[in-house]
Amino acid sequence: MQILKFGGSSVANAHNIKLVKDIIKSKSQDKPLIVVVSAFSQVTNQLEKVATEATNTNKPYLQGVNAIDKQHKEVISALFEDGNADELITQVDGLIDKLKEVCQGVSLVDELTKRTYSQIVSFGERLSSLIIAEYVKIDLKETTLLDPRAFVFTQNGTSSVDFNKTDKAIKGELENCKGVHICPGFIASSKAGHLSTLGRGGSDYTAAIIAGALEASILEIWTDVSGMMTADPRIVKRAHVINKISYEEAMELSHFGAKVIYPPSIMPVLKKKIPIQIKNTFDPAHPGTLISEDSNGSSTIIKGLTSIKNIALVSLRGPGMVGIPNFSHRLFRALSSAEVNVILITQASSEHSISVGILPEHVELAQEAVENEFELEIAIGKVEPLKVKTGLSIIAIVGNKMQNQIGVSGKLFSVLGHNGVNVVAIAQGSSERNISAVIDTKDLKKALNSLHEAFFLSDAKSLNVFIVGVGNVGATLLTQIRSQQSYLYTKHQLDLKVVGLANSRTMCFDTDGISLENWKDSLAIGEPMQIDSFISKMSEFNLRNSVFVDNTASEDIASSYARILSESISIVTPNKVACSSSYEHYSELKELEQKFRTKFLFETNVGAGLPVISTLNDMVKSGDEILDVQGVLSGSLNFIFNTYDGTQSFASVVRQAQEEGYTEPDPRLDISGKDVMRKLLILAREAGNELEEEEIKTTPCVPEYCMDFEGEAFFDALEKEEDFFKNQYESAHKNGKKIKYVAKFNSEEASTQPMEVASDHPFYHLDGKDNIVSFKSRRYFTQPLVIKGAGAGAEVTASGIFADIIKAANT
Ligand code: ADP
Ligand code: ASP
Ligand code: MG
Repeated sequence: MQILKFGGSSVANAHNIKLVKDIIKSKSQDKPLIVVVSAFSQVTNQLEKVATEATNTNKPYLQGVNAIDKQHKEVISALFEDGNADELITQVDGLIDKLKEVCQGVSLVDELTKRTYSQIVSFGERLSSLIIAEYVKIDLKETTLLDPRAFVFTQNGTSSVDFNKTDKAIKGELENCKGVHICPGFIASSKAGHLSTLGRGGSDYTAAIIAGALEASILEIWTDVSGMMTADPRIVKRAHVINKISYEEAMELSHFGAKVIYPPSIMPVLKKKIPIQIKNTFDPAHPGTLISEDSNGSSTIIKGLTSIKNIALVSLRGPGMVGIPNFSHRLFRALSSAEVNVILITQASSEHSISVGILPEHVELAQEAVENEFELEIAIGKVEPLKVKTGLSIIAIVGNKMQNQIGVSGKLFSVLGHNGVNVVAIAQGSSERNISAVIDTKDLKKALNSLHEAFFLSDAKSLNVFIVGVGNVGATLLTQIRSQQSYLYTKHQLDLKVVGLANSRTMCFDTDGISLENWKDSLAIGEPMQIDSFISKMSEFNLRNSVFVDNTASEDIASSYARILSESISIVTPNKVACSSSYEHYSELKELEQKFRTKFLFETNVGAGLPVISTLNDMVKSGDEILDVQGVLSGSLNFIFNTYDGTQSFASVVRQAQEEGYTEPDPRLDISGKDVMRKLLILAREAGNELEEEEIKTTPCVPEYCMDFEGEAFFDALEKEEDFFKNQYESAHKNGKKIKYVAKFNSEEASTQPMEVASDHPFYHLDGKDNIVSFKSRRYFTQPLVIKGAGAGAEVTASGIFADIIKAANT
């Protein structure tokens, strides 16, 4: 005997029913078949709606019933040739009339009892099975329509099955049957003989009950996906089919929301060790998932993750709880007598509080029941009134291999923490097969996707990048990202997408990734750029592993960093404004980075792409102490002093540097020494010093008064001072020295100034726009650690930013 079950989507329309018939035909050649079918897709939902509409005189239930009638008639006319379905149509009409009668009854008495609810929702399966049986009969004459009310029995007033009576009846009715039997799922009979139902999703249960009773060799559940998957494929795009899974794991997954199988369906087959094969009606060749005693077949610690969207957490707490006898017993008895379904329980070890996850629609019932039960204790203040929190969801990770494995929950919580997902409650099954966490529903998608990436090694990790500033450096960065995207994906399993982009005028977004070929077009038609709306968009998307890249020199954008880090979004930036602002602000950002388990990376603040800050950080973290920092930290100034030899004016060399993009947009920032001062300040702070801007003695490269002029007037002022520059150059030159703009920090001084350096000085041979920095430390005492190389330019800066973006992903 073979037992097959086809779900709602497998029988959603005529086309799908044809596929179902093909499968039945191919199977019917081997052995007798019992085929359990669901209602057509969505019909049970519509019937539930009709049932509630019938109790409400203002709502015309007839409209709903007529729509159901029409849907079934359309399927019939697509499946049967004209005139061949007259009898079937009469039978369908008969059922629809009965449905109308029941609804009218409900409407008249204005009351929907459990029994009438069951009657109304049963019509979905009654209609579908009738039509399918007739259709299969066209090819397989020996096809019979069964009525499960004759052999599936529930206890009176509930959907729990009386297995003694049911098993006997199934054996009696079906053990020796031949040919194909079509059986509506979901429907049963109460012991008292009334129609009852098995709960939403219950057709799976019907099939499992029959398979168990007949000790079938296998139960096949045919649905619209190729098996039980590592996560709900509607939420996690990368979810993949699990080949093999144990009964217990499948039960945990389905209990916590994996809708593909109705949880009670596992018990009747588990008892008889009958395997379940989940198969895809739309891809019959796919092997699907085998649910059996053996759970091997995967190398990952967890089998899958799952979720229940929208639950409420009700908590009972109070100092008096410890002393109250039978406290939990009373709580759960109250909930159970109010028919509140308990999904999850957590209890503080002090027993001062118990929290219970329930469906939001049960909150009022729960409140009433619990507050009645504990009326006295609440009145005398021993227990607080029930606290209710809604808008929550449960996520659960499931797997037999989690047992005795160290670090699984650590990984779970660190991934959630890193992505800014707050955990409201935690529960772990005593079998250690499941860890569940209650989180805000708004974080559900992000949590599931980031956990999936973390636990399934085959997954590429998503990195969602938001870029503000597409000038020289920004545009170069986009080009670099574009050419590396596929390499990062294939070699490093990193799926880097630019999901937000802005210049000073417009911004655009695409959570599937902005095309880096046409980003200029996307920006051109973008919305007006405002940093506040840009940040709101980032938090609204709530994407895992989000990185904000600030390629501007804007104070306005830098002043938003605290807000961005507090959203658990990492920041990568060459913008020095934030790190060189007040020490208080700098350390606030560092604290936020820790608190929100995110990254604030600004390697390109000093020396463009050179690994200056990361080296310094490594030295400090490993216990070294920085004693002295010296460097030529301005590529622009180095270029200017290297180029100037008196043959053309100093002003024209500055202009050339500006035109070639080596200076800040306003060259005075370089010439004044302010830019270098900021870099030194950042290095000193990263080395562990509480330093402020005013404490650095900054000497400009030009007479101070020149700095008061702006634009062309500034260049005019430099022209006027040509003699000053010439003298400075010549006095150095005649002694075989060069001018370098040097930054110094040690316990005695913090300064930046132009300096003459002799040919034996390490800074003397510093070409073009290169940078050099030397760290003298306890470990690098006699021979300082020196970093030297190209310290300015769009390519090297962009590559430093790119490296930081990848670093942000790998933490
Ligand atoms: P049927 O109508 O065949 O009974 P259901 O709609 O009840 O099908 O269940 C199948 C659906 O369950 C899939 O389409 C899928 O969207 C959803 N689902 C949720 N979680 C999972 C999971 N872990 N694996 C497979 N499907 C899942
Ligand atoms: N038709 C019922 C429901 O939608 C039973 C099932 O399809 O499994 O819940
Ligand atoms: Mg189902």
